[in-house]
Amino acid sequence: MTESTAGTPAASDFSSLPLSPAVLANLASLGYERMTPIQAASLPLALAGKDLICQAKTGSGKTAAFALPLLANLNPRRFAVQALVLCPTRELAEQVTQEIRRLARAEDNIKVLTLTGGATLRPQTASLAHGAHVVVGTPGRILDHLGRESLTLEALNTLVLDEADRMLDMGFAEDIAQVIQHAPKQRQTLLFSATYPEGVTQLARRYMREPQEVKLTERHATSKIRQRFYEVTESNRLHAVGLLLNHYRPVSTLAFCNTKQQCRDLVAVLQAEGIVALELHGDLDQRDRDQVLIQFANRSCSVLVATDVAARGLDIAQLEAVINVDITPDVEVHTHRVGRTGRGDEAGWAFSLASMEEMGRVGRIDEMQGRASEWHPLSELTPPPGAEPLHPPMVTLQIMGGRKEKIRPGDVLGALTKDLGFAAAQIGKINVNDFSTYVAVERGIADRACAKLNAGKVKGKSVRVRRL
Ligand code: ADP
Ligand code: MG
Repeated sequence: MTESTAGTPAASDFSSLPLSPAVLANLASLGYERMTPIQAASLPLALAGKDLICQAKTGSGKTAAFALPLLANLNPRRFAVQALVLCPTRELAEQVTQEIRRLARAEDNIKVLTLTGGATLRPQTASLAHGAHVVVGTPGRILDHLGRESLTLEALNTLVLDEADRMLDMGFAEDIAQVIQHAPKQRQTLLFSATYPEGVTQLARRYMREPQEVKLTERHATSKIRQRFYEVTESNRLHAVGLLLNHYRPVSTLAFCNTKQQCRDLVAVLQAEGIVALELHGDLDQRDRDQVLIQFANRSCSVLVATDVAARGLDIAQLEAVINVDITPDVEVHTHRVGRTGRGDEAGWAFSLASMEEMGRVGRIDEMQGRASEWHPLSELTPPPGAEPLHPPMVTLQIMGGRKEKIRPGDVLGALTKDLGFAAAQIGKINVNDFSTYVAVERGIADRACAKLNAGKVKGKSVRVRRL
């Protein structure tokens, strides 16, 4: 389509945008070679100061689509909050903060602060007093700070509503409205959403000025995502998930159910079959939720089971398969679920289990995709000869002690390799949280590594370690 020739950047090159050489160099250093489709469609408008409504699927690069414009609107020498990003949950706010920090590296000393519930107010208030240019947070907590006047928005020039559909689902409409009361009328407002329900239209109508709409409900590159349907009955549906996993043996699978009860039942069935499966649901407290996501991301949990609401917006890389345990009544939701796999250049599987009662829903999916689904018989699902139940390659060890004890990933890696003699290749991801550190190790060394760590030291101190 667009071809780059010397001197004239292609439409998808970041260099076609009004960005400084320092910003362009930083993008290159982050490995951002060209814009994603949503970035190519939205950045020219957003950098020209327009209000924007952007709809694109999870993982399409929406964060940079608002982070670059809000950074362009900043005056780093002015010590006041000039940009505010509202997000539905703490972990999304943290992901957004990280991404803004990475993109802000081109400029000196841009301070980005996360303000979300779950943490105490006082340290947040102290950080605000030290000055921040950009604040990323959840509507409730932002409102708390505005009420206490520890945060003011007088200097705000960019307001971002990220995951607007999800914030509405979570009942934040009124909080958002009140936060916006505190913001100057003269500002740029950018709204991002994976879906486009009526509530989002109303938000836009109330708070945006002549917004431009950028929608990319692109169909997936079907070659990369291989979709297969299996007919099931209610009595063999959950068992069929285990058959799929043992037959195709994906390392990481996201399994979608329509209800929380179905999620719970599926986890119980899979665990009974010896498969490591964890449920992600809204009732988990923040620490348990972090723990589940860490185990899934570090490849020590084979299957993450979730409802659509619980899984929305999470940036989960390396997903070999998605399983639609139930067929969703909403065709757009189906497209979103399936689009979670086969990111980048990776191929991915999308399996769907459908009962006779769900055939109408499948018909609508076929219509939307413009082709007939590919059906396979359950009887074809046999594990490779001699295979054990699917096991994840890694096991997570939890070390009681984290940032508060000043533990860094290097300390844990050092203890396991230099002190205890394990090979660096046997150690996976290391996540340091406030009170805990999680380290993924190869399954075969998990018990020995756990015992040796318990007997040894991390950063010169004895630690308590357990296998999750
Ligand atoms: P979304 O908000 O649409 O779900 P994210 O902004 O979280 O998507 O981006 C998904 C991933 O893609 C992130 O890891 C991000 O760093 C990466 N990414 C974004 N834009 C680009 C780009 N132009 N080139 C390469 N990687 C990108
Ligand atoms: Mg996002």
